[in-house]
Amino acid sequence: MKAIQKNIDQLIRENVKKLKPYSSARDEFKDFDKDMVFLDANESPYGDKLNRYPDPLQRRLKERLAMIKGVQEKQLLLGNGSDEVLDLIFRAFCEPGVDNVITLPPTYGMYSVLAATNNIENREVLLNDALQPDTAAILQISDDHSKLLFICSPNNPTGNSAKKEVVENLLHNFEGIVVIDEAYIDFSPEESWASRLDEFPNLIVIQTLSKAYGLAAIRLGIGIASEEIIRVLNKIKPPYNVNLLTQEMALKGISETTTVKNHISQILSEKETLIKVLLKVKFVERIFPSDANFLLIKVDAADKRYEELLSSGIVVRNRSRQPLCEETLRITIGTPEENQKLINILNAL
Ligand SMILES: *Cc1c(COP(=O)(O)O)cnc(C)c1O
Repeated sequence: MKAIQKNIDQLIRENVKKLKPYSSARDEFKDFDKDMVFLDANESPYGDKLNRYPDPLQRRLKERLAMIKGVQEKQLLLGNGSDEVLDLIFRAFCEPGVDNVITLPPTYGMYSVLAATNNIENREVLLNDALQPDTAAILQISDDHSKLLFICSPNNPTGNSAKKEVVENLLHNFEGIVVIDEAYIDFSPEESWASRLDEFPNLIVIQTLSKAYGLAAIRLGIGIASEEIIRVLNKIKPPYNVNLLTQEMALKGISETTTVKNHISQILSEKETLIKVLLKVKFVERIFPSDANFLLIKVDAADKRYEELLSSGIVVRNRSRQPLCEETLRITIGTPEENQKLINILNAL
């Protein structure tokens, strides 16, 4: 049975609907590539372009990103990392102390931190044994105040992707907004949900330059959604949330397509090599299927193995405290040299 979908307007917080956004100097006069005398923003007249405020809507960068992602510029929102984009989504749709969100542990820790920061109830529905969203339980626990559902695919820390039919079902039947976090999509054989934006008005896709693009330091997160949703998020974002250096480095980074592609295929082939080695390591009991640039492995004693690796100079992530992840370590795929070092140590343990 298909639920009656709410329209976006019904999901937005009342105060957000009413507010008049801050209008910056750069919003009022937009043509700042023109040769004008700029005396409108109380900037210093001295300096080599860093004296000027950056484009609040990052037009040049969005133009390129829209091409790469196959969407329109007005369907993009850029933030200071995906974490800022996620926070804006909470603040646009969730009324503190009233609304709730649904998250699917084991998953990315920021969703619950952002829920707590914004005083929003977080209703957790564990992934099922196949590490897929439990659709029936999600729909059962959600109510009129369930504004957001977070699906991380490929999922951190397990590495697997949510099945297409499962996500489709939730997009059709969850009455709030479905946020699909695709931080690892560039490593995955699955198609991005951004290609289905026109079918699902309640969909927000999150991507980032922090993983496959190798630009975690510049902090650039990408929200992809309908023009209507993007307009709401733009209304409440800090005016200059993506600084000029980030915009410039991002443009450079996304233009180096061959390098990025080569790094991705190198990482994927290294992942296969590492899987083969791990299958032969006696204390490794399970390797979780991964569409990402990391592997979650179940070992005999995670704390002990974590310490052993640490004292050999290798830092991995112990994920054992997460549900369904007892005795697991999460290992990011490194360079061939780094992976070889890991392999030598594993074989010696
Ligand atoms: C790494 C990661 C991100 C990236 O966050 P940024 O703020 O863009 O660096 C987002 N979501 C998940 C699930 C991640 O693992």
